[in-house]
Amino acid sequence: MSVTVAKTAGFCFGVRRAVDLAEQQAKKNGKIYAYGEIIHNMHEIERLEKLGVYTAYALEDIPDGAGVLIRAHGVPRNVYTLLQAKKCEIFDATCPFVRKIHKIVDKESADGRLIVILGSAGHPEVVGIQGWCGESVVLEGEEQARAFSERLEMEDKPISLVAQTTVNRSIWNISVGLIKKRCTNLKIFDTICKATDERQSEARLLAGVSDQMIVIGDKKSSNTKRLYEISRSLCSDVRYIEDAAELTTQELGQHQHIGITAGASTPAWIIKEVSNMMSEETKIETGEDFAAMLEESFKTLNNGEKVTGTVV
Ligand code: SF4
Repeated sequence: MSVTVAKTAGFCFGVRRAVDLAEQQAKKNGKIYAYGEIIHNMHEIERLEKLGVYTAYALEDIPDGAGVLIRAHGVPRNVYTLLQAKKCEIFDATCPFVRKIHKIVDKESADGRLIVILGSAGHPEVVGIQGWCGESVVLEGEEQARAFSERLEMEDKPISLVAQTTVNRSIWNISVGLIKKRCTNLKIFDTICKATDERQSEARLLAGVSDQMIVIGDKKSSNTKRLYEISRSLCSDVRYIEDAAELTTQELGQHQHIGITAGASTPAWIIKEVSNMMSEETKIETGEDFAAMLEESFKTLNNGEKVTGTVV
């Protein structure tokens, strides 16, 4: 049996940056509050709490003058004002890719355009984006994009379209096509982040050549859900797990090629636990044939752009 761990599995740049900043500041000051869960992973939140990083689910939970970390998802503009009014020290870990969206919607709104966001309504990143613009509409996928485009009239406001950074690339492409057909004054800003694109491409390629895919990540993590959906569209046996405890070795023995990927908020130590458990319990052999086959698929399926995985 061969097991391939996607090279992109685990923390992305933005999440790594937020976690590092939280750890540094907690170490320096003894305690810091993260406004909202720093990442969608309970195991990691518990680990950080032991280091002095506490989660505040509401502004009222943050004492005046405390150190506050803004997570990678970003926050609405008014949150900065409210924290300043409480004399809090702000450590801003908003991911630069998210910050770029805030700037786009701020400007486009000021130009009198309707902001359309393709993403999950109520997700903290989307709530944050909405807090930087005026009138906005959130479309959660192809169906809503179709219904929205069918309602469009010639005299409607001009539209500027952005994406939540973790949106499925295929759904973005379809939705853009639908809105483009009906909107005569449309500006499109492709704001899916590079880390998401790479992760999704790699999941697509890996799922296409694996008998089983294991997707590791918190059930609340938007980008992990996308990886699960992509894997399911290409592989008939996909497991979505939060940690190694959810795997049974019995199931694993039945597969020849297993692919592992993980969301941007899944810590490396959980991925390691899963791959260690698999290698210890199932006596995995290094799958050289499979590695070569995978390499070939990557070349063919990714327009020659090589995306390699690690065979354990
Ligand atoms: Fe930043 Fe992309 Fe990671 Fe989101 S998924 S935190 S936008 S790098």
